[in-house]
Amino acid sequence: MNINKIRLDRRTILKAAGVGAGLSVGMGPNARVNASDTNIKNVTQSGVAAVLGNNGKPVLPWSNWSGNQHCQPTQRETPRNEEQVVRSIKGARQPIRCVGAGHSFSPLVPTSDTLMSLARLRGIEKIHEETQEVDIWAGTRLAQIGKPLWDAGLGLINMPDINTQGLAGAIATSTHGAGYRLGSMSSYVTRMRMVTAAGEIVECSATENPELFNAARNNLGALGVVTQLRLQARDSYKLSEYSWMMKLEEGLERAEELRDTNRHFEFYALPHADHILGLTLNETDKPIPEQEREGNGDAYETFRTLSQVVDVVPFLRRFIINTGASTVEPEEKIGRSYDVFGNLRDIRFNEMEYSVPAEYGVQCLKEILDTIKRENIDIMFPLEYRYVKQDDVWLSPFYQRDSCTISCHNFHDREYKKYFAAIEPVFLKYEGRPHWGKIHTLGARELAARYPMWNEFQRVRKEMDPQGLFLNSHLKELFALG
Ligand SMILES: Cc1cc2nc3c(=O)[nH]c(=O)nc-3n(C[C@H](O)[C@H](O)[C@H](O)COP(=O)(O)OP(=O)(O)OC[C@H]3O[C@@H](n4cnc5c(N)ncnc54)[C@H](O)[C@@H]3O)c2cc1C
Repeated sequence: MNINKIRLDRRTILKAAGVGAGLSVGMGPNARVNASDTNIKNVTQSGVAAVLGNNGKPVLPWSNWSGNQHCQPTQRETPRNEEQVVRSIKGARQPIRCVGAGHSFSPLVPTSDTLMSLARLRGIEKIHEETQEVDIWAGTRLAQIGKPLWDAGLGLINMPDINTQGLAGAIATSTHGAGYRLGSMSSYVTRMRMVTAAGEIVECSATENPELFNAARNNLGALGVVTQLRLQARDSYKLSEYSWMMKLEEGLERAEELRDTNRHFEFYALPHADHILGLTLNETDKPIPEQEREGNGDAYETFRTLSQVVDVVPFLRRFIINTGASTVEPEEKIGRSYDVFGNLRDIRFNEMEYSVPAEYGVQCLKEILDTIKRENIDIMFPLEYRYVKQDDVWLSPFYQRDSCTISCHNFHDREYKKYFAAIEPVFLKYEGRPHWGKIHTLGARELAARYPMWNEFQRVRKEMDPQGLFLNSHLKELFALG
């Protein structure tokens, strides 16, 4: 193997390596399951295992995107409209958990009862031209919002770095992008509509049921079934994305300057190495090139390939990463905002993310990188580093705190628990608050100490759902409900 030939060119390496090798092997709807599993009462003709539901029909097992969460519900519901949601809830004989796109790594969704998807309630219902607000059905995937808004001369203010989540799912966990002057997606919600445990439709906003509104914009699926959301949008815009490799020291030194001088700024820090990939997004009037460069511009894939190389020669890890990193050319991409935000993540991984006060960001990242080196943690996957503006959403990790988010990942088929266990104490030391949709090990008492409006949220949850219709075992544990 000629190490000098390893280039961290984001496109060519991965083509050669066969992208897609990392696709999930989780228990998706088509997964085959061992029929001797005690839960399994029926194997359909196609060989897909399932239990028999209350209506005597097979119910398929479920798994999330990375395959680290799975369950066997006894009922699946996909209502066609709000009336059917109401009817299901009024007739419910067992708990109901909602699922969006299954992109959470924490056990928010798994249930052995009813799994409800609002995938059929999708699309834009109404655009309020005067206020540039948009009413969107809860099951709409983020990817389905950009184009129709663009056609109406509008764009979402900010988005996460992928667009495959469901809208209600993304809002339930304060899904965020990057941008020191930009909030999470939840902070741009101006009105919500949901069906309560009593089967009633309620709406909330800053002026109507304001307490419910504060709780519902990060609801963890625990307050009711959200059917529609109103988002604040803005004039449509184009973005220029620029990525370049820096020496680690330079990157850390410039982090706050880059944060303050770009609309969006983020880092991908390479463990065991002396380099860091910077990425900025800024509004631009430049024309969109006719022939967009091929490829998805996704550095994750490159690291998958590199990690396979390091498996063969682990003692050369640092040298290989540094050699590869030093060959990365700067790249620029120009496109419609929603096209530039939405990256493709072909390679599946598991993730832990914490938010720390913005001013601790650099120090916290440094300590994590030092910990990885000191403990010789076998990890290749870059750490993602972003800034997010504070908000007033009760369970938001950004509640009244300008924040820096740092995420650790490992490939879905590699051990991640020991790695995350070594890093989590560093986050906690810097007053970290976990991302609800990502892996963490905190319980009710620790969460209450980190989320100032914890008790207020619990009060509203109890008022909305006194019988716990919308709880699963994870939430009962999280909320210390026995
Ligand atoms: C590849 C990848 C990239 C990611 N990138 C980012 C990122 O850039 N930034 C970030 O912040 N996060 C990111 N995440 C995390 C992800 O955005 C969150 O976990 C999000 O909540 C997932 O949305 P979902 O539609 O898949 O919801 P699910 O994971 O299916 O569900 C999440 C929660 O929403 C609830 N829910 C769903 N629909 C409803 C409804 N109609 N009514 C009530 N409750 C409902 C569920 O019960 C559950 O509690 C990423 C995840 C992956 C896998």
